[in-house]
Amino acid sequence: MKILVVGANGQIGKHLVKFIQDSGSHTARAMIRKQEQAAYFEELGAETALVDLEGEIEEIAKAAEGIDAIVFTAGSGPHTGKDKTIMIDLDGAVKTIEAAKVAGVKRFIMVSSFDTTREAIQEAPESFAPYVAAKHYADEWLKDTNLDYTIVHPGGLTNDSGTGKVQAAVEVERGMVPRVDVAEVIFGCLENDSTIGKEFQVVSGSTPIEEAVKQL
Ligand code: NAP
Repeated sequence: MKILVVGANGQIGKHLVKFIQDSGSHTARAMIRKQEQAAYFEELGAETALVDLEGEIEEIAKAAEGIDAIVFTAGSGPHTGKDKTIMIDLDGAVKTIEAAKVAGVKRFIMVSSFDTTREAIQEAPESFAPYVAAKHYADEWLKDTNLDYTIVHPGGLTNDSGTGKVQAAVEVERGMVPRVDVAEVIFGCLENDSTIGKEFQVVSGSTPIEEAVKQL
């Protein structure tokens, strides 16, 4: 499979591209927004596509040409305002979903937030609610398509070393999870079509990732 990783220069994104390239059976195209970010991916043997998520759907669709699966793991991050939450976490995600349709890519994996239910928007602290709302509507948009989607809802992300073990289910108790383990879970989803049409929460746990993904 050739996989377009949107947000490839992000922390999960970089781990994911490495898993894909190391697999020997799949290849990645890293969607990045700055030329100077390309070297890391070229060294891994991955392709790159320079596209800003604030641009046109057609530009994203062009980056998705010849691609078998798209992973959306971009995010505006905690250091920008609500404007970027709308433009990246919501509109950037929706444009990527629309680009998948234009490019004829059926498989789509969304890296969402831990809880994106309507209740979570209401219950979130004021500063966090716009982000949860953006993630909620991006998830809903995806579920309303005919794409072969999987929505991954990770707990709080850490940069701890991977344990290779998680707890994954429709609902799990809130917890933390290393980004590298989330990347491995996403890779597992790419390899397991049984995850199509599913969404699940994932935190650190005691089940080996391959097994946890197969049990979903
Ligand atoms: P990250 O390191 O902040 O990476 C986000 C990536 O998005 C960056 O590479 C960034 O590009 C890219 N991006 C931002 N604006 C863009 C634009 N206009 N065009 C193209 N790319 C753009 O994120 P992470 O820690 O890997 O997290 C990945 C995902 O997990 C995000 O969707 C986040 O919302 C979600 N999540 C986070 C938590 C948490 O605890 N933090 C929990 C659950 C889910 P640059 O590298 O160029 O800046």
